[in-house]
Amino acid sequence: MHKKYTPYSLCALLALLLLLPLCLLALLLLRTPTKTSAKDLLSGTEGTDRVILLDPGHGGEDAGAIAASGALEKDLNLQTALLLRDLLVAMGREVRLTRSTDVLLYDPQSDYVGHKKEQDLASRLRMAQETPDALFVSIHMNAYPESRYRGLQVWYSPNDPASALYALGVQEKIRTHLQPENTRRVKRADGGIYLMEHVTSPALLIECGFLSNPEEAASLCDPAYRQQLALLIALSLVECAENAP
Ligand SMILES: [Zn+2]
Repeated sequence: MHKKYTPYSLCALLALLLLLPLCLLALLLLRTPTKTSAKDLLSGTEGTDRVILLDPGHGGEDAGAIAASGALEKDLNLQTALLLRDLLVAMGREVRLTRSTDVLLYDPQSDYVGHKKEQDLASRLRMAQETPDALFVSIHMNAYPESRYRGLQVWYSPNDPASALYALGVQEKIRTHLQPENTRRVKRADGGIYLMEHVTSPALLIECGFLSNPEEAASLCDPAYRQQLALLIALSLVECAENAP
């Protein structure tokens, strides 16, 4: 004789079935740490807090590329890097800068401009070596004799495999959210970019856009556009820290 369910026992069974997922959810919540920082929410992981060493290219006597409007690359590099610093600090990251003012980093005794440039790069490299586990991020603006070229492009150092991961992250984030027409690919810096060749920790150089393209130069000179750019770069660096070795 098989057992018959009364209306009361059916009700109890239904109540149990309804309560079971709630009990499981409660158990899950109890197991979840309640203290979550903004950094945890952004990165989702612990132990990937590399110091980020931002390197605004050029400075002082070295203006870098010059837009038709007269805007100087060294100033745009610094303004972008300072924005990036503020955003990364707000995300809980430790950030340092190779320069935070309009200077070229050379020995004041030096009078030959070529030597000043060499000393400047050596100073930046020394700062990278003094923070050996840092993520080194150079900020530059591009220029080319033909004005039609445009679009952000990231170069990466061959010395640490994590460099390519960060470079891909930035390039893809910009393509997805800011420049859907940008088909540029990240490039391994095999020669000609001194800091990418010599920095041994993860390192990338972001060419934020072409000052030789009037339309893109106008965007790069627009503080609102630079904020967008800096925010997307900051987010991609923080997100990539989850997966970087
Ligand atoms: Zn440059």
